[in-house]
Amino acid sequence: MSPRRAPSARASAACASPAPDSAEPARIGLAGLDAGPIERAFRVETPGEALGDLPLPFEHVDIEVEVRRADGAAVRARGTLGARATVECRRCLEPTPVGVRAGWDALYLPPDRVTPGEEGVWALDAGSGELDLAGAIREELWVHAPAFVECSRDCPGLCPACGARLAEQACRCPPPEPDARWAALEGLGGGAAGAREGDIP
Ligand SMILES: [Zn+2]
Ligand SMILES: [Zn+2]
Repeated sequence: MSPRRAPSARASAACASPAPDSAEPARIGLAGLDAGPIERAFRVETPGEALGDLPLPFEHVDIEVEVRRADGAAVRARGTLGARATVECRRCLEPTPVGVRAGWDALYLPPDRVTPGEEGVWALDAGSGELDLAGAIREELWVHAPAFVECSRDCPGLCPACGARLAEQACRCPPPEPDARWAALEGLGGGAAGAREGDIP
């Protein structure tokens, strides 16, 4: 797979085959596969519909793929994907851009050779003449999307009392009361039981 080309729609349709149908852009026609690998680069604009349930509200997913025959009736699809989403920072709720980039590698086998649950292996619908990439792409997005989003690693978040965004403005709220459970732990670690009551600021 060559990462040379920018992943723009139809950019790689250099060798005669038409670009995939824009209505179902996660499917690749397999006509001409016996003559050599098929390369495509395209953008899925509405992944919520085309790719199914995704971990983040991606605005689009750019996909580069090379499809080639593997052994027997098997087909291998390899490529890269890049996706963008805007997600609230989990601390300060500021809209934060998130990018996901990943390589992927999927093997498509006739349905009777697919073991359920095997990673990276998908059923090839030989009769359709198409490869459905949606499952493989969706899986990669779930694996590579961040579990939580923060606008910066040291985002101070919001004041729990007044809601001020602490990265932008200090507030005059008193510091939060120490948690009684932590106070109990401090007592345990402090040696003489009860002697340190009142030491905690
Ligand atoms: Zn933040
Ligand atoms: Zn405050």
